[in-house]
Amino acid sequence: MPLYADIVLPLAQPEYTFAVPEEMTVEKGCAVAVQFGRQKFYTGIVWRLHDRRPDVKTVKPIQALLYERPLLSERQMQFWEWLADYYMSTLGEVMRVALPSLMKPSADSRSGFEEELFRPRRELYFLLSSSFAERERLDEVLDHLERRAPRQYDALLEVITAAQPDALNSDTLSPQIFATEIPRRLLTAELPVLRALEKKEYLLAVEHEPSTEQGEVRFRLPSLTPHQEEAREEILRQFDEGKAAVLLQGITSSGKTEVYIHLIAEVLSRGGDVLLLVPEIALTAQLIERMERIFGSRVTPYHSKLSDVKRSETYLRLNRSRGGSFVVGVRSSVFLPLHHLQLIIVDEEHDPSYKQADPAPRYQARDCAVMAARIFSSKTLLGSATPSLETWLNATGGKYGHARLTERYGQGRLPQILISDTLRAARRGERHSHFNQLLLDKIEAALSRGEQVMLFQNRRGFSPFVECTECGWTARCKDCNVSLTYHKASGRLVCHYCGHSEPMPHKCPSCKVTDLVPMGFGTEKIEEEILRFFPTARVARLDRDAVTSERAFNTIINDFAEHRTDILVGTQMITKGFDFDGVSLVGILNADNLLSNPDFRASERAFQLMMQVAGRAGRRAAGGEVVIQTSDPRNPVLRQIIGGDYEGMALSQLKEREEFFYPPYSRIIAFTLRHRDIQLLRRAAVDLSGRLRKIFGRRLMGPMSPPVDRIRGEYLIGMLLKIESGASARRAREIIRHEMQRFHAVGEYKYIEILINVDPQ
Ligand code: ADP
Ligand code: ZN
Ligand code: ZN
Repeated sequence: MPLYADIVLPLAQPEYTFAVPEEMTVEKGCAVAVQFGRQKFYTGIVWRLHDRRPDVKTVKPIQALLYERPLLSERQMQFWEWLADYYMSTLGEVMRVALPSLMKPSADSRSGFEEELFRPRRELYFLLSSSFAERERLDEVLDHLERRAPRQYDALLEVITAAQPDALNSDTLSPQIFATEIPRRLLTAELPVLRALEKKEYLLAVEHEPSTEQGEVRFRLPSLTPHQEEAREEILRQFDEGKAAVLLQGITSSGKTEVYIHLIAEVLSRGGDVLLLVPEIALTAQLIERMERIFGSRVTPYHSKLSDVKRSETYLRLNRSRGGSFVVGVRSSVFLPLHHLQLIIVDEEHDPSYKQADPAPRYQARDCAVMAARIFSSKTLLGSATPSLETWLNATGGKYGHARLTERYGQGRLPQILISDTLRAARRGERHSHFNQLLLDKIEAALSRGEQVMLFQNRRGFSPFVECTECGWTARCKDCNVSLTYHKASGRLVCHYCGHSEPMPHKCPSCKVTDLVPMGFGTEKIEEEILRFFPTARVARLDRDAVTSERAFNTIINDFAEHRTDILVGTQMITKGFDFDGVSLVGILNADNLLSNPDFRASERAFQLMMQVAGRAGRRAAGGEVVIQTSDPRNPVLRQIIGGDYEGMALSQLKEREEFFYPPYSRIIAFTLRHRDIQLLRRAAVDLSGRLRKIFGRRLMGPMSPPVDRIRGEYLIGMLLKIESGASARRAREIIRHEMQRFHAVGEYKYIEILINVDPQ
């Protein structure tokens, strides 16, 4: 029996060695409770077992074994190791993002660890009594209920059609109908009504854990169009030929999701697991519902809005599952224990929210999915209308497979895109506040036809900066080097970096003479103006300030979906996968701040974002319209958007990237040094950059001030390393690690934090 265990703790620290008590049987991947420091107890993961006594005075014993089986498989451990190495973090930091927080308690005493196990979630199901095998009896009962108990009649019908959609039109009921359990969750009938039917023995109720059954299962799938079928076959062919990843490039509403559904069904019916990654969960409620209508209780949602208990239950349930699970989740779901994983789908693979910004590990879930697929001998499908240039280059270069969908499903046509010049409108007196006459006319026309409108502005709040016209004073955050945004509804100035807020002053605090003027505009201002132009329109706003909870979010979305509102004003939030039938007009109020961003990805992002916003128009209505307001109508990216010319955009952007040695032609590792003392920080940055420059030469850039160089009272200095894509990134990471250690060994630099961002976005 091994005597010692190296254990990963949820800290930015290396593994620590503990003694395994004689009576305890532990395996690699098991969770254990250990004492660390004088008073503190942590959950740790057993990483290695061996019999080398560490070179310290006393080796503490493991306190307790948690859970009856390992939390991580060998392959998951391999995945964590790859991730920690690639993104230059510790395994402990990976543990922090990978496991739900309730599963890794830390406490001041051992008692904090006692039996906080999670009872598996149970669900209620209803199924039709087999006494209805005689069709006449069913008709009799239905007749009776229809006259005497209409609500029970509706409920019974709902269960029957959920189990077999054509049941009422056919003379015989399929025997399977009496074995089909319908989750209560998917029925709209009220529980007392269902219980009444149960009492009459028309329905049976059962309660158990959501099924994880294996083997042959049939799902009712919509049939694919010939084009979609071709794409599906192409994807399977590429997988068979050994491609680990395939790009499905399909314009909005071409039926990418339908293709996913068919691929998912195939894997599930073989007993395999599927992971569908989606950008941000608030935006995917619709998608989850769509999946549940087909795959029922096999769908496991996983996102940050779930309670921690739910997330822990989910982890443990999947860990016990024998296959056939289907997870729909955000980026952290790449860490779930899917032991029979056969397919990972990354929807909207270009979406920046797949990259974790903070804290470490700053991982990109799409890239991790491709690696995970390799480790788990699974496959990855990347779907997008406007793929990231990295993925597109991989697909056109033959490293990934490539399948396409070039037509919208059904009657849907791509919207017509109109560019509206703001300067010209102003010269002609056709600019009214933030609206050109053209956009106002189009809104009026759409409203008078009873159609809906979406307006996009990528800034929230009322006004992004507040200025004194007399002395030039501007409102800035006291802790961050940024201007404060005026939020009119609350009457406060808010910092979008640290959340600090203060009341809007009546007079300029500096010269105390004049009133302050809000400059620029955000969603809140647009909402106010639109109500002035169209006083009878029903207007709603969707942005981080309006969405205070999941419920608030759903209310806004449902009101718009059911046409209780006419105009929806919003930020990025309105751009993702919504399927609203009534929208015929989309307005982009200010394309300039998308196009003129200094980031090297600005044009790519502007294209992706505007195409995605545009895709919301006319999904089913005949021919939607998009109006883009800009002062730079000749910008090549706008031309490419009008033509829907993804390839043109990709080729011209890639040319620039190659010329200036940006990704995908190089790999970037960004460093940010952080400390309160600016003098010390400057010295340290010069020192570290000198060391790195000795090794990397001109590949190192900086030190430089980032656009926002002070956040929450701490100063920031950046550095950037650009490495040739062909060069050994692993070797570079080794060197960097070594240099970081030497740097932190210098006494005065000990508390300077270095944040490392591999492949920053
Ligand atoms: P994408 O994911 O490419 O944006 P979707 O799969 O959401 O496209 O399809 C757009 C709309 O068209 C959806 O409402 C979908 O139900 C419908 N649709 C697409 N393909 C089919 C099909 N083969 N049969 C029935 N409806 C379809
Ligand atoms: Zn701030
Ligand atoms: Zn002033």
